Amino acid sequence: MEKRLNIKNLSIEELQDWVESAGEKKFRASQIFDWLYDKQIENFNEMKNIPKSFYSLLENEFEIQSLSHLTTQISDNTDTKKYLLQTNDKKLIEAVIIPDGEKNTLCISTQVGCPLDCKFCATGLMGYTRNLTAAEIIDQYILTSKLLAPAKITNIVFMGMGEPLLNFDAVMRSLSIFTNKKTKGISRTKITVSTAGLPEKINALAVSDYRVKLALSLHSPFDKIRNEIMPINKKHSLKDLKPALINYAKKTKTRITFEYTMLKGYNDREEDIEGLVKLSKQIPSKINIIPFNSIAHMSPGGLSAELEPTVYDKLFAFAEELRFRGLTVMIRQTQGDDIAAACGQLAVKH
Ligand code: SAH
Repeated sequence: MEKRLNIKNLSIEELQDWVESAGEKKFRASQIFDWLYDKQIENFNEMKNIPKSFYSLLENEFEIQSLSHLTTQISDNTDTKKYLLQTNDKKLIEAVIIPDGEKNTLCISTQVGCPLDCKFCATGLMGYTRNLTAAEIIDQYILTSKLLAPAKITNIVFMGMGEPLLNFDAVMRSLSIFTNKKTKGISRTKITVSTAGLPEKINALAVSDYRVKLALSLHSPFDKIRNEIMPINKKHSLKDLKPALINYAKKTKTRITFEYTMLKGYNDREEDIEGLVKLSKQIPSKINIIPFNSIAHMSPGGLSAELEPTVYDKLFAFAEELRFRGLTVMIRQTQGDDIAAACGQLAVKH
């Protein structure tokens, strides 16, 4: 049988067009949206207010589920949950829920693997297979929402496997669903897209309707170091990134979050403090310091096997010094490292 398109890949406008071309009234599209995203049904025949003849038509044309849930691992010390999910073509991806009081943050994947090969990141070691579809991004939310119920997902961060801005179209489609008031969505202020730094795509995101928060995986204020640990920097240097980040902050009236994973000897020196202070004066921003989770045990060698975390005392002193110099600094708690669900540890063994 010919492969059917997943209905969750369609925007409301596209669905309206399809509904009309199938000879039905436009309002059916809103009804279908409601069933898909508010009631989160799993079969077309559960759409009670849709005539049977019409949902048979839908059934023939579209599929409705793009992922299945395989396993959940729960961290002993933090209650962080890591979900192993499978696409219909049997690719494995991971999504993570990080609880924090009333807050439950879902960390979403956008690609199977990742092509960027950042030297500190486990996903990079997997290599790259393909982009996820919008439906697969949205279904991570729908599936994990159901598994978490009655608790609710309150925040979404695009910080799982993959580079969101290399899968721009699908990420934008997913944002249109997540931020749609008619769906069980999430406000744009509770959504963060994290990128290794693609200036044109940052500009494109800035002119979109979504105005979500933007995080840049900075990790060093210097091109020389960034070139070593993040190969993408050779293509898009900090000099190229700066105007895009300033523009994003201005357009969205939000500050950029600089993610800063502390790597011993690479970015925890006195000159790094000076570099960060200088950069922060140019770009409206705050810094999120992340303890490095070593990936040496899974690395085949090279730099990724050599990178070590900055010891905690030094990490705290570094953060304090930045605060003293007037920067806004948060320190991200390591969550779920016992189940390899912490930052940069998402990698599925095939
Ligand atoms: N490609 C996107 C999103 C995925 S990475 C990006 O680069 O932003 C999500 C965050 O985890 C990034 O800030 C990344 O730099 C950080 N990270 C990756 N590997 C890590 C590791 N081993 N330890 C701690 N943080 C890591």
